[in-house]
Amino acid sequence: MSSDCIFCSIVDGDVPGRIVREGAGVTAFLDVNPLAPGHVLAVPNDHMERLQDVPDEEAEDLYRVIHDLVPAIEEAVDADATNVAFNNGPAAGQEVPHLHCHIVPRFAEDSGGPIHAAFGDRPDLDDEELDGIADRIREH
Ligand code: 5GP
Ligand code: ZN
Repeated sequence: MSSDCIFCSIVDGDVPGRIVREGAGVTAFLDVNPLAPGHVLAVPNDHMERLQDVPDEEAEDLYRVIHDLVPAIEEAVDADATNVAFNNGPAAGQEVPHLHCHIVPRFAEDSGGPIHAAFGDRPDLDDEELDGIADRIREH
């Protein structure tokens, strides 16, 4: 645990949180400043900052919780859909440096957009550049 981390404090019960699921090394609770009713954050209990910090053997536990929570949340708030996303690192908008998955209910008539709306201009990449990027990702 990190002593000055708000999400560690919620996981440890030192700060109250509206916890909706506990177990398998993952805790989920309502976001205190929700983007929609039913906005939930799912976090690993151990303090880690980014997705790439999740130990291999714990990666499936995190996905399992997300997999279970999505239908439960949609049914609980009668949502039509959900956006499920990680702000993975400060440059991607992560403000709380304890890895968390946002599960945000969506409604047909809400004023939100797709995750694509978080981005500005799209890069103009030709075939050679796209091939090079795909090659480098495969190599790594
Ligand atoms: P980020 O920008 O880091 O991906 O999102 C952090 C999220 O944590 C925000 O949606 C914010 O409302 C939520 N948050 C920040 N502090 C607290 C807190 O003390 N309790 C809860 N439940 N959520 C918090
Ligand atoms: Zn933490």
